[in-house]
Amino acid sequence: NQQRLDKLAHHETVSKDGVGVTLAANMGTAADLARVTASGAEGVGLFRTEFLYLDAQHLPTEDEQFAIYRQVLETMAPRSVVIRTLDVGGDKELPYRPSQNEANPFMGARAIRQSLAHQQVFRSQLRALIRASAFGHLSLMFPMIATLDELRQAKAIYDDERSKLTAKRVPMGKIAVGMMVEVPAAALLADRFANEVDFMSIGTNDLIGYTLAADRTNQNVAYLYQPYHPAILRLIDNVISAGHAAGIPVAMCGEMAGDPIALPLLLGMGLDEFSMAPSAITKTRQVIGQLDAHELAALAETTVNSASTSQEVVTMVQAAVPGV
Ligand code: PEP
Ligand code: MG
Repeated sequence: NQQRLDKLAHHETVSKDGVGVTLAANMGTAADLARVTASGAEGVGLFRTEFLYLDAQHLPTEDEQFAIYRQVLETMAPRSVVIRTLDVGGDKELPYRPSQNEANPFMGARAIRQSLAHQQVFRSQLRALIRASAFGHLSLMFPMIATLDELRQAKAIYDDERSKLTAKRVPMGKIAVGMMVEVPAAALLADRFANEVDFMSIGTNDLIGYTLAADRTNQNVAYLYQPYHPAILRLIDNVISAGHAAGIPVAMCGEMAGDPIALPLLLGMGLDEFSMAPSAITKTRQVIGQLDAHELAALAETTVNSASTSQEVVTMVQAAVPGV
């Protein structure tokens, strides 16, 4: 069986009825690259840049970042790499930035909120990314977008840095600009956001927490952290449909993308890219090869329309897909 999985490591991912999807890897540091390339990933769906900042004693300089982004892009080329701009705050505080002392850090100045508040840091990260784009296939993505104003501000700052580098004749590649959908407001309003980005990537780790109002790190409410809650499925389905109506691809980079029970539903909803831990890739590719995406579209629709509890969802998936 391991041999069969190894053979699958360098194949495309296609369902039994011929629907192709992309299986990508999540990564956090350049040290993950070996594992990612060995995993058979068709790209990187999420590079969490915060570790570059959290593991350092000082704010990483533009050149330090450039070197790392370049290494990741060069190693993965011609495959695509989605790099997420800094996502700190919540449970991840920068050691060299004054602590915010917030009562509810996960509801506080996190991710894009901090980037827009500390624009010099944001701009230096964007310059490093734009310069690195000459060395591979880069997509960049903003975390925790809740309003169109935030998205437009982030894009305007990016465009500004891009124009300045263009004026200086700095080499750069074509860059797709996307957003994470991990705040319920953005998932509900996905049709409006979809008109202003090149792609969307659903961050279920936060989306589940914020939708069920259950802190993802709090064991007391772990029972409420329910990926299969019908409310979550409706939000995901809404994001995928909105993306497709606008003609853009929709990815998922939260843990749910590698979840065997969720997989048939996500394939049925038409998710384009699944980004997960490298270790889950070949197994997921094998399972997708045995699934019929058209049949699962009907299952996904019934589930979204009629399930009322997480348990009902699980029961419906297990009845339709024996052996999950
Ligand atoms: C998510 O929220 O699903 C996600 C991928 O981002 P992170 O886990 O880094 O918050
Ligand atoms: Mg998140």
